[in-house]
Amino acid sequence: MAVEARDIDALAERIVHGAEEVLAAEVTAALVEDMAAGVLGGFGRQTLEALARANRAKLDQALAANRGRIASEVYEEALSCLQEADARDAAALEAYYGSRAVSEAYAAAGAAGSAAHFAELSRQSARGLAEVIGRQNIAMAEAAERLWYEVAGRAVAARDEGLLPLDRILADAVCRLAAGGVESIDYKSGISSQLDVAVRRHVVSQASQAGGRMTLERLAAAGHDLVITSAHYGARPSHAEWQGRPCCAAGPKTAGGVQYPGLVELTGYGSVGGLKGVNCRHSIGPYFPGITELPDLSFPRESAHFGGLTSEQYYEATQRQRELERRVRKTKREISAMERAGLGLESSTYVQKRLVLGRQQAALRSHCADKGLVRGAQPRALSRKPAIKARSKRQLKSGRYAVTQAEIEAVIARDLPNVKLPCEISYNPRLRSYGATRYEEVLPGYNRLIKIEVGPQKDGSDAELRDTILHEILEARIIVRAGRLYEGGDAAVHPHIDRVIAKYVKMKGLK
Ligand SMILES: [Zn+2]
Repeated sequence: MAVEARDIDALAERIVHGAEEVLAAEVTAALVEDMAAGVLGGFGRQTLEALARANRAKLDQALAANRGRIASEVYEEALSCLQEADARDAAALEAYYGSRAVSEAYAAAGAAGSAAHFAELSRQSARGLAEVIGRQNIAMAEAAERLWYEVAGRAVAARDEGLLPLDRILADAVCRLAAGGVESIDYKSGISSQLDVAVRRHVVSQASQAGGRMTLERLAAAGHDLVITSAHYGARPSHAEWQGRPCCAAGPKTAGGVQYPGLVELTGYGSVGGLKGVNCRHSIGPYFPGITELPDLSFPRESAHFGGLTSEQYYEATQRQRELERRVRKTKREISAMERAGLGLESSTYVQKRLVLGRQQAALRSHCADKGLVRGAQPRALSRKPAIKARSKRQLKSGRYAVTQAEIEAVIARDLPNVKLPCEISYNPRLRSYGATRYEEVLPGYNRLIKIEVGPQKDGSDAELRDTILHEILEARIIVRAGRLYEGGDAAVHPHIDRVIAKYVKMKGLK
């Protein structure tokens, strides 16, 4: 069924802790390290401007270096999430009506019922989400630039006053950076929020909305209009009122002697505070009278598990938990920024923050123990893979020896059994080169593979065919990883590919 809350949570988790996390860490590091260098190095008025410029350049660089990977991650993750959910909807409809009846309904719906339409819908939604996250990151970097300048200006003024020791000035400055360094403004609501919170909110809202839209379109194409939302223990009270109740997507309707309210009328679907509004994780799925099981909205199992808490009490307990967790994260960010700036136990601000953290963690532990809640996951360690900075151009040579799809598959199975194929590999007898990798630029900085084609070869040997296939696989990987940030550099790529191939052939003892 549809895009479910757990799919969205998993998607948000993967995005927040992916390349996005690397960017946030790099931005914070740039801000803090430059601040420490400035305060301890004793910057004056004119060098402040120069430092601000250098800082801005560093932030831009962090943005440019991570942009492509973030876009590709968000796009791919969102795409598979939406496609999987759509496939589940399609399967549910087929199971109920029979595949023949559903196909006929799709055919009658014309373009709106075609597979291409749903494929395009999911691609559009995934692209939309990647673009939103991209803009969010740019806004974050701009806000960070302004914040850095403001905080640095104050540090200079404080140093000129000479009333506070330097380590105290630095501690205050980096705490302000840590609190606001990766902050960005949500222009609609005017609320400023930490980057991970902002990114998570975008993912939840956009993926949930896109999933809902796709489900409704899929159902409409199949001629089905009865729907039901998911129901969660601990849902926000205004949504708990309507969750898990069957309704009709096309408006109020009576069917089989049952009156169904309209989806919009019941849930406020489409409004900010309603179903699929901000932060709503409720899903919409098809409702089949007599078959779809209605949820027990008193949640007896969950309530028993949480010591008799009602859904609403549980909601309040989790809200309190989120608040306590936010405080812990804020203090941890401040402490880690101070450590990065070289401050430690000799700094009274640092010691005080550690004491605060201890108290906040104790409060969180006792709240969770009290209510039987599970504590949120701790942030993972950062990891970073190097990017290959190149993109290649193939030599255009037409081969004269035809091969077959079966031969291609046989060579892959025999010589490249453990090589992960980046996309489909097929034979194209009209290709005017030994091999070609087709791709599209989905977003600036992100290329998506379509397929690898193998054309007629230079000679009829398996070794030659294997060399072509390996060559294209390596190029495909480079195209995907490097995006368009690193155009040129062809001269470096081909020798690199040839070296990798030679090594592989030698290592595997292939002839
Ligand atoms: Zn909701």
